[in-house]
Amino acid sequence: MHKPVLSIIESDRPEKWQEILADLISEPKALIEYLGLDPEARPHSMAACADFPLKVPRPFAARMEPGNWDDPLLKQVWPDIAEETIDQALSEDPLQEADFNVHPGLLHKYPGRVLLTAAPHCAIHCRYCFRRHFDYSANTPGRSRWRDALDYIASDASIEEVILSGGDPLAAPNAYLRWLLAELDDISHVQTLRIHTRLPIVIPQRVDGGLLSALRALRSRCVIVLHCNHAREIDQTVSGAISSLRNEGHTLLNQSVLLRGINDDKSTLRELSQSLFATGVLPYYLHLPDRVAATGHFRVTEESAKELVNALQAGLPGYLVPRLVKEQAGESSKTRLL
Ligand SMILES: *Cc1c(COP(=O)(O)O)cnc(C)c1O
Ligand code: SF4
Repeated sequence: MHKPVLSIIESDRPEKWQEILADLISEPKALIEYLGLDPEARPHSMAACADFPLKVPRPFAARMEPGNWDDPLLKQVWPDIAEETIDQALSEDPLQEADFNVHPGLLHKYPGRVLLTAAPHCAIHCRYCFRRHFDYSANTPGRSRWRDALDYIASDASIEEVILSGGDPLAAPNAYLRWLLAELDDISHVQTLRIHTRLPIVIPQRVDGGLLSALRALRSRCVIVLHCNHAREIDQTVSGAISSLRNEGHTLLNQSVLLRGINDDKSTLRELSQSLFATGVLPYYLHLPDRVAATGHFRVTEESAKELVNALQAGLPGYLVPRLVKEQAGESSKTRLL
């Protein structure tokens, strides 16, 4: 008799991860103070912040080294003045994704699989993000407007896999995810549900009982593709979160972005693969950053990327070497460079 009352109280209270999500570091000054950095050393771009604000979850900031401007985690989130560099070769929609937006929220670009932009936000703003100029407000339908996208998937039996992407799908509450996953799971030709997420890395508390039970309820196979760029992103809480997903039998993969000055050397990539494997995750893709405006300072040339992965291959078992890929507009899959 008391149960419904209790569950209402529980669902009204924000989860721990939601409290963390509501308390992000969002001002450069606050991050400088938190890390005890010399504010003169690395001016930030106000224009870049206005366009794509600083956003850092505290559990992620806690893994940065105080006083070190070259910290590889800090560099991923710092709105550097270099973002103001104008490069004619960089564009706001380099993949011409706008052309594959079949319905709001749905990209059908590659045969057999579709990608849903399931949530408008991310828990973190990665400065190199290729979707930083994407119009999420137009692409995150509410429950009623998902109907078109769901009907589209249901009417095309060639679609065997649905990828929840974003933003970050795990930035959405469990009740909404449970609903969307169940709708997709009801489509009989869908065999695999894949979640692309950085949340278990940046706020490991996100992997809570509600999420685990929503995934456990699925008939479809569940693949979780994490996004981690550096071994230092994995601490004990992160490995704990990953282990609890792994213990449920889900397939766990990781994609990274190759970033100049952050992970573009052999020992860093090697350590990343080994740390991922130690927590039960296999490397999947290593992306060459796309040609996105304001991200030129992270770019690694194709040639040096290939050299790097070749060198990595010589010292690691094949299953710990990520596939080096880039996206090219008009191709029917990501393009393998090696
Ligand atoms: C990357 C991507 C996929 C998935 O590609 P895989 O090679 O299967 O990982 C699907 N759709 C879109 C639009 C993508 O960008
Ligand atoms: S988590 Fe992914 S989608 Fe979100 S800002 Fe970072 S790279 Fe972009």
